[in-house]
Amino acid sequence: MFKFRELLADRTTELAKVISSEHGKVVSDAAGEVARGLENVEFACGIANHLKGSINEQVSDGIEVYSLRQPLGVVAGITPFNFPAMVPAWMFATAIACGNAFICKPSERDPSASMLIGEWLIEAGLPPGVFSVVNGDKEAVDALIDHHDISAVSFVGSTPIASYVYQRATALGKRVQALGGAKNHMLVLPDADIDMAADAAVSAAYGSAGERCMAVSALVAVGSAADQLVQAISERIPGVKIGAGNEPGAEMGPLVTAEHRDKVAGYVQRAKQDGAVAVVDGAHADVPSLGFYFGPTLLDHVTPDMECYQDEIFGPVLAVVRVETFQEGIDLINRNAYGNGTAIFTRDGGAARQFQHEVQVGMVGINVPIPVPVAYHSFGGWKASLFGDTHMYGPEGVRFYTRAKAVTARWPVPSSSQVDLGFPQNT
Ligand code: NAD
Repeated sequence: MFKFRELLADRTTELAKVISSEHGKVVSDAAGEVARGLENVEFACGIANHLKGSINEQVSDGIEVYSLRQPLGVVAGITPFNFPAMVPAWMFATAIACGNAFICKPSERDPSASMLIGEWLIEAGLPPGVFSVVNGDKEAVDALIDHHDISAVSFVGSTPIASYVYQRATALGKRVQALGGAKNHMLVLPDADIDMAADAAVSAAYGSAGERCMAVSALVAVGSAADQLVQAISERIPGVKIGAGNEPGAEMGPLVTAEHRDKVAGYVQRAKQDGAVAVVDGAHADVPSLGFYFGPTLLDHVTPDMECYQDEIFGPVLAVVRVETFQEGIDLINRNAYGNGTAIFTRDGGAARQFQHEVQVGMVGINVPIPVPVAYHSFGGWKASLFGDTHMYGPEGVRFYTRAKAVTARWPVPSSSQVDLGFPQNT
């Protein structure tokens, strides 16, 4: 794992270019996802610290009790198109370091990153077969879930498929962690630094063309913050440089497929029919003629009953929902079906503390728009954003990929042995 870490660090740009060429995200963004994946590999290099059991000496006369964590065996990971290197690294680094064999089923839309990672793991010395890639779509997923040699399934993707994978695999008695979709809200209080909040909103809504599970897609503007924010964001949008992933200086690439671009365009069209105000409509953006581009879109006066608020659009579309009070904002977020990430922008420490306590979301940012936890914490949402009990990577990843065993040991003096049918007691 140490050697693999060196290979991956040296070849970050090579991998980023491959990701960009299949996915469309700009190379700098792809390099960022490789860097975050690398963190998981580094965590795995130090896994021994997390695999330590504990011991109680002399729980009874001559008896010790200690706990062990042991691997599950063969585990599978099914990953989405939007992070073709980072999400597999969330899984395989911990799974393998904990002693499991790992089978990756990458997205059929951009499988090359997993294939390269597999080659580099072998180059680093991993025995063949410890990391495998199975390509395909539903048929491959179903075959992996149903295979009796596979003990656990990690999934990251959309909520309907996460729910399906969870149900099918748990019905077979397998351990499952299935991370689903998101609708991430950024709540801005009137006391926030509006320029900083606008920069954060533009970065988090339009980075990677909005195809991030932690992208901000709903901006909850409290009171007087709304007009200022809408103004500040709309001023910044023309500055976003749209272009091919490998174009120097490009900040936002195309969407992954023509079908997905048309789906996003359909959401924006219907949002306008529903009464949302398109302050900036990405359909009219100046974009390259070749590729599935859709420009950054800012929808104002969005209400919670609208489709564009309720659904995960997964494109560069930011919906502004105006509320009068802080509490109204928290209640809105808590009523949403999803609970992946959220952020509050404020200068008020008390409000931030109340927010982190009351909000029903798994990952919370305080003046941080995309609060993806570092590798030595764990990643996971609440509500429809996660099916299963453990979050991914970090300490919860170790728990997921290992089983606990408790050993009670005694090394008696042979002459002290006797038959005793009483229930063992700690006397
Ligand atoms: P997806 O659900 O379409 O596909 C994910 C995986 O499931 C792929 O490997 C795909 O081949 C497989 N799959 C697709 N349809 C299937 C079916 N009917 N039966 C069995 N398997 C099937 O997701 P996507 O479009 O690749 O990725 C985008 C989605 O992933 C978004 O909803 C996004 O929010 C979510 N996502 C969530 C997180 C998170 O951490 N919560 C992270 C990244 C992406």
